[in-house]
Amino acid sequence: MTEQQSAASVPHDTRLAEEEAVALTSELIRIDTTNTGDPATVVGERVAAEYVAGKLAEVGYETTYVESGGRGRGNVFARLAGADPSRGALLVHGHLDVVPADPAEWSVHPFSGAVQDDYVWGRGAVDMKDMVAMTLATARRFKRDGVVPPRDVIFAFFADEEAGGDYGSQWLVENRPELFEGATEAISEVGGFSITVKDGVRAYLIETAEKGIAWMRLRARGRAGHGSMVHEDNAVTKLTQAVARLGTHRFPLVMTDSVREFLAAVTEMTGMEFDEDDLDGSVAKLGAVARMVGATLRDTANPTMLNAGYKANVIPSVAEAVVDCRVLPGREAAFEREIDELLGPDIEREWVTHLPPVETTFDGALVDAMTASIVAEDPGAKTLPYMLSGGTDAKALQSLGIRCFGFAPLRLPADLDFSALFHGVDERVPVDALKFGTRVLDRFLRDC
Ligand SMILES: [Zn+2]
Repeated sequence: MTEQQSAASVPHDTRLAEEEAVALTSELIRIDTTNTGDPATVVGERVAAEYVAGKLAEVGYETTYVESGGRGRGNVFARLAGADPSRGALLVHGHLDVVPADPAEWSVHPFSGAVQDDYVWGRGAVDMKDMVAMTLATARRFKRDGVVPPRDVIFAFFADEEAGGDYGSQWLVENRPELFEGATEAISEVGGFSITVKDGVRAYLIETAEKGIAWMRLRARGRAGHGSMVHEDNAVTKLTQAVARLGTHRFPLVMTDSVREFLAAVTEMTGMEFDEDDLDGSVAKLGAVARMVGATLRDTANPTMLNAGYKANVIPSVAEAVVDCRVLPGREAAFEREIDELLGPDIEREWVTHLPPVETTFDGALVDAMTASIVAEDPGAKTLPYMLSGGTDAKALQSLGIRCFGFAPLRLPADLDFSALFHGVDERVPVDALKFGTRVLDRFLRDC
């Protein structure tokens, strides 16, 4: 069918796209795109990007393949013209790489893409080949059926998200900003999934904010010397004292707008009250979601690496540590002051990676469209804003002035510990959830 139809007149039949989303998730998982973080050992991104480009070209899209800063770091772009090109474009993006998986730990091979027990199994099943597949299936359905979205849609598939995007979104934003021309808003991971709040009522969490990532290297200097002597100026001692001060420090509780709105909405749905004086205790009552929400109540600074010395009886002149810091929106300056006070004047510090927090508001026509598309497929459901404690490609895209949301819709069984599946063993996604998400995306993109 090539005749163009207005969005409203299309009968709502997405069965083919739903089946495709399941098959594409499985096929994408079978393309091993392990991102070790070391550019020399990353595999598969080019193969996956060419696969995606092929699926889009097959139904008539013009695709652009771009390598981002290194050989094989494949990214794909395609555009679908909308009814009103004067409106800003919507960017629908996903990443093609995955974190490593050790087959010995899994019940099925992590790159098998096995479809069994009503799940698609494998590395990337929820992070985020599921959304890539649902996006592809919907993009193909729109092209096949001549569906014209209300505004331009840019489909983008990135390399290197799992290592911070230096060879993916960060590089593209800096070197090829024209590929995002006209984009004002974006959807991608990590949001749109359901939690069952009470009596089978589901809430869908839409990501409106992300903590900042600040990986910091600390260095202490002292006098080198013999390990047998009395020695006052020891770099290892100085460094480890500073590291311990940081690691045991509790940063102040901060109620950001997205956390406040999230808790208010949960109260409205369940009657559960959250005591602002005992937020940690209150949030613990949320069950599996507490792990996610709890990490967005305050900044964190977790020491992760130590390096000093080369022989048992030689006091080194330098000792180093790396600390993984995650910072709430609006807290960057206060956070740095607090860190410097804890470290004291003797410790040098520098950023290894420093990506800003992301925050937008939970309102406007696009949010309304997300909610409407969810409720149409799951009557009685609610949508809530929430903050992600980790980071995504939204950090890079935000620098282009794009408003970023996590909206990769999945209706999940009440007893599934979804957040544990991210980078976890036996990562898998319910077949039903993929079909649901494809129907929601179809509705959403007709109404965006
Ligand atoms: Zn991801």
